[in-house]
Amino acid sequence: QLPLALLLSLLIGYIVWLATANRMSLSWQISYGITANEFMVYCQPLINAQSGDCDGIELLLRWHNARQGWIPPDVFIPLAERENLIAPLTRFVIDKAVAQLPNLPRCPSFHIAINVAASHFRDRAIVEDLQQLWWPANPLPKLVVELTERDALPVVDQKVISQLHSIGVRLAIDDFGTGHSSLSYLKDLQPDVLKIDKIFTAAIGTDAINATVTDMVISLAQRLNISLVAEGVETAEQADYLRERGVDLLQGYFYARPMPIEDFPAWLAQHQAR
Ligand code: C2E
Ligand code: CA
Ligand code: CA
Ligand code: CA
Repeated sequence: QLPLALLLSLLIGYIVWLATANRMSLSWQISYGITANEFMVYCQPLINAQSGDCDGIELLLRWHNARQGWIPPDVFIPLAERENLIAPLTRFVIDKAVAQLPNLPRCPSFHIAINVAASHFRDRAIVEDLQQLWWPANPLPKLVVELTERDALPVVDQKVISQLHSIGVRLAIDDFGTGHSSLSYLKDLQPDVLKIDKIFTAAIGTDAINATVTDMVISLAQRLNISLVAEGVETAEQADYLRERGVDLLQGYFYARPMPIEDFPAWLAQHQAR
């Protein structure tokens, strides 16, 4: 009787331990990955639709985990958001960008865009982080914060937006037209930039309904004097279509795939010499 009870409680203890260890491990691995240099900052050029110049870059996180190899951001970003680890990751991206500033263009038309989760936005931490990490780097290239939203409408403090504007940061709404991003964002957040999601770019010439949405987003932004960036541009046809309709910046594999930020100066030199 006694050995069986002991065996059972040992077994239950083992299962509980296993479950906790597994639950802990992913968020622990993100924390560990930050200190172990497993994260990298990649960037993707933003191309001026009219001039063809590179007018900026978007910074994109990459994670190469020692045990599991490459883990895509679509997997680890939502996890980091749930586990309250998104702010340290954003700070890591800002840090890396600041370190690269001496190698990046200084012209007034060039800007750097970073992705910021709405959860990091909500508590004003983002303003402090930008002031601490970005502000000391002088002279400052223009910064655009791309607000990404996965779960629900962000309750964004108007003060946060005006503070960001006062330190020269522009606000973009990412993936406009998908998920939870909605028309009410335009009124509440008063963005400077809208990013047309790649599903709408992909619809050009193939999907009449989504292409109509693309056209409407473009004319909406133009009427409200909001700049437009189209992501996921993969073909010359898409680029021409978007350019003809006045989209300001184009981003996608047609121009360049995301690359390590350290490789960008060489890419830019080649692009300018084209
Ligand atoms: P996103 O902000 O919408 O970024 C654009 C995604 O489209 C990137 O995926 C990029 O690699 C991909 N892409 C670029 N050009 C093309 C194209 O021509 N065709 C196609 N099919 N895809 C293209 P990635 O790097 O895998 O990132 C996925 C998402 O993860 C991002 O979507 C963003 O929401 C999130 N993310 C990435 N880095 C960060 C970060 O530092 N912070 C936060 N909060 N989120 C991030
Ligand atoms: Ca983005
Ligand atoms: Ca996007
Ligand atoms: Ca997207």
